[in-house]
Amino acid sequence: MKVKFMKLNEQHKSIKPEIDTAIERVLDNSSFILGSEVEDFEKQFASYNKTKHCIGISSGTSALTLSLKALNIKPGDEIITPVNSFIATSVAISSVGAKPVFIDINKDTYNIDHTKIKKKITSKTKAILPVHLYGQSLNMDKITEIAEEKNLHIIEDACQAHGAEYKNKKVGSIGNLGCFSFYPSKNLGAFGDGGAVITNNEELAEKIRMFRNYGEKKKYHHKVIGENLRLSGLQASILKIKLKYLDNWNQSRKNNAALYNRLLENIDIITPRQIQDHVYHLYVIRTKNRQELQNFLTKNGIQTGIHYPIPISLQEAYKHLNHKENDFPVSEQYSKEILSLPMSPELTPEEITYVTNKIKEYNKH
Ligand SMILES: *Cc1c(COP(=O)(O)O)cnc(C)c1O
Repeated sequence: MKVKFMKLNEQHKSIKPEIDTAIERVLDNSSFILGSEVEDFEKQFASYNKTKHCIGISSGTSALTLSLKALNIKPGDEIITPVNSFIATSVAISSVGAKPVFIDINKDTYNIDHTKIKKKITSKTKAILPVHLYGQSLNMDKITEIAEEKNLHIIEDACQAHGAEYKNKKVGSIGNLGCFSFYPSKNLGAFGDGGAVITNNEELAEKIRMFRNYGEKKKYHHKVIGENLRLSGLQASILKIKLKYLDNWNQSRKNNAALYNRLLENIDIITPRQIQDHVYHLYVIRTKNRQELQNFLTKNGIQTGIHYPIPISLQEAYKHLNHKENDFPVSEQYSKEILSLPMSPELTPEEITYVTNKIKEYNKH
C-alpha cells in the first residue's frame, strides 16, 4: 500500500466541475487582476473570520511583510517570534530590516512558550509575531496580556491554521492583524501562491491595500512607494469555492487525528498534545529513532515529512544573529525527534490503520 503525505489531486477531483465553471467565468469576465473575483473572495473570507477587512495578497510571506510595514516596523526594531516555524515568519521580519528575537517552544503544544517572552522584551521591541503552528491555536489570552502590558502589536501568523478557533473567535482575527497563506498544501490552498491579511483596523487595511498595489489610492495616484503583491483573480475564484468546504475538510482532519491518537495509544511514540482548538494542518509525532522510523515508513510506501529539521536560530541564513547550540533547548531537541505523518481530509481509516500498524511493526524490532 502507498500512503501519500497529502492527496491534493483527490481533493480537486471532488470539486472539479465547480472549479471548471469558475475558471471559465474568469476567462469570460477577465477579472485577472483585483476586480470582482478578488473583491468577492475578500468579502467572504472577512465574513468567515468575522473581521471588517480582508486584503488578498500574493503569498503568506508578503502578507506578513506588508503587515509589518503597515505597523511601521523599521530597521532596528525587534519582533518577538518562535524559533520553530517555517522560515517565512522570520524572513518577513528581516525583509523590513527588523530583527527576529526568537523564543523557545512550549513542550506540549510546540507553539511559542509565552512564559519566556517578557524576558526578551527591550525598548526596541515593537510587536509579537506568534505562529499557530501545525494548526493548533495559541493561548491568545496570554499573548494579548503581554502585548497590552508592554504596549506591543500582535501579528498572528495563521498560515497553518485557517478556521481554527480560540474562545469562539477565528485565529487571525484576535491580534491587530492576521496573516494567511494559500500555498496549495495549506488547509485552504490555491492553485499556486496566494495569501491574505485580515484585520478590524480600517487604517491598517487601507495601508496594506496601497502597499500591495504600487501605493495607489486612486489609479495612477501613488501616495507611497508600494509594490506588486496582489492576489490573482484566478486564484481568488478557486479560493471562493474551496472556502465553502474548509470547515468540513478541517473536521475530517480532526477525525483523522483522533483515529491516529487512538491507534497509537500505548506505543512508545509521543502523539500530539491538543490543548487548544487544532485543525491539524500537520500531525506531528515524536520518537528518539526518528531517522530509522522515517526510513522504515518510506520503505513501506508511506510518505512523511519533518517540520522543521533545523530551528531558525541555527539556519545558515541567520548566522549573523550569533545563536549557539543550546540557546533553545526544547526546539533543538524536538527538531531531531519530530516526524509528520500523512495528513489530509482525504486520508482514509484504512490508510491510517496501515501507517499505525507499520509504526507498531517498527517498534517491535
Ligand atoms: C506557509 C507558511 C508561511 C508562508 O506562506 P507562503 O504563502 O508560502 O509565502 C508563513 N508562515 C508559516 C507558518 C507557514 O506555514
